[in-house]
Amino acid sequence: MKIQHHGAVNGVTGSCHQLHIDNNNAILIDCGLFQGTEKEATSNKDIEEQLTIDFDLSTIRALIVTHCHIDHVGRIPYLLAAGFRGPIYASTATAALLPLVIEDALKVGVTRNKSIINACLKRLKIQLVSLEYKSWQVLALSDLSSINTPKVKIKLQTAGHILGSAYVEIDIQNVPDIQNTQRKTDHHRVVFSGDLGAPYAPLLPAPKSPYRADTLVIESTYGDRNHQSRKNRTKQLQQIIEKAVSDNGVVLIPAFSIGRTQELLYELEQIIYQQTKKSTAKYNFWQTIDIIVDSPMAAKFTKQYQLFKNLWDKEAKREVKSGRHPLSFEQLYTVDSHQEHMQTVEYLAKRNKPAIVIAASGMCSGGRIVNYLKQFLPDNTADILFVGYQAQGTLGRDIQKYAPTSYSKGGYVFIDGKRIDIKAKTHTINGYSAHADQQGLINFVKRMRHKPKHILLVHGDEQAKSALAKKYQQLLPSAKIEIATR
Ligand SMILES: [Zn+2]
Ligand SMILES: [Zn+2]
Repeated sequence: MKIQHHGAVNGVTGSCHQLHIDNNNAILIDCGLFQGTEKEATSNKDIEEQLTIDFDLSTIRALIVTHCHIDHVGRIPYLLAAGFRGPIYASTATAALLPLVIEDALKVGVTRNKSIINACLKRLKIQLVSLEYKSWQVLALSDLSSINTPKVKIKLQTAGHILGSAYVEIDIQNVPDIQNTQRKTDHHRVVFSGDLGAPYAPLLPAPKSPYRADTLVIESTYGDRNHQSRKNRTKQLQQIIEKAVSDNGVVLIPAFSIGRTQELLYELEQIIYQQTKKSTAKYNFWQTIDIIVDSPMAAKFTKQYQLFKNLWDKEAKREVKSGRHPLSFEQLYTVDSHQEHMQTVEYLAKRNKPAIVIAASGMCSGGRIVNYLKQFLPDNTADILFVGYQAQGTLGRDIQKYAPTSYSKGGYVFIDGKRIDIKAKTHTINGYSAHADQQGLINFVKRMRHKPKHILLVHGDEQAKSALAKKYQQLLPSAKIEIATR
């Protein structure tokens, strides 16, 4: 048995891991796109290199998808184009979301040609196999050596990261030692964490550790940090919005369409609901404020979140039972067409009444939020509220950096080559993260009944990986703790 990494090695994107079971059989876990600085693309040739599937597909029997973030699934069209025809296993919810994500990725990054997109989606749907959580699925392997062929089964468990997310348990019976063909161990359990969610995240339950892992491949996004103040995040959201709209301005919240937007809607509904118990001026405000989701993708995903209520956490399910609708409320508007989007920007600019706008992308590096920023950054009644990490080199990071503060008048940014002055105020709430923090990652291992003898760290910056590796070594002194390399 051998594990090879085709991404998420020098950073958090491009997740793609290959588990070689023997010389004839392998499984692929995720097939994601590289983004940002993971593998800096400076020329078309580089971009091509990032997208080409540069590994041998002939032994790959199946692809397992942990969740449908683009940096975990974005290279699937290239995998299909390269001739992969095996099953693509995913949880039921991920299987429902995946075609939407791939369609969007193709439209944005590859082609607008409908027949190419449809051909790719058709192929994808033929190969896609949805799996229930917690039930074993036997994999069909190449049967060349009959009795010597190992038996492999897989199981998905909820990961609490986004709707449908899973970590994968792979059980191999009759494991051949690739280096030494004579020797065999009878049982081996490999666990791939995918992306693990954090406790106190709204909507989805936190992940529970597996019973057993012999080898663990785990993400380490926040391997060197612990989240703070997650519990009073809703309070903070409420206070910032109330203060921000006191001058009748708009509040813009850049947010990714999958996960973050639904978390925000969930918390906004909670604030509105809490206010119904009081009949104050605040109550009136929260009953009448327009909340606009300007993203057709986010609207589609919100629908899927509503369809899969069975995956929600206890609190959210309780709310549904009591007759509430955690992801929809009276004053929520969804903007669909591009024309409607442009009209909304114009309309909000003219009127003197507050509104909350949620639009993608989360780091302002594209998407409809950009038109809002062009319009409202120079407006001193507007407020930009960041609820996610703003990576180096993104417009979001620049806005955070050059926005006015108590000691500076504020600078400017360039959008589409045009200089835009920043007069709007900015706020950042750090409590939002879809990833487990250091303690969460430690607990994931600590709470296993049979702890791993080998841990491979992926999906994190250098610092995060080495900090977490130290922690794991303290926890398991005799285990082999390794930082994955390509
Ligand atoms: Zn993810
Ligand atoms: Zn990820």
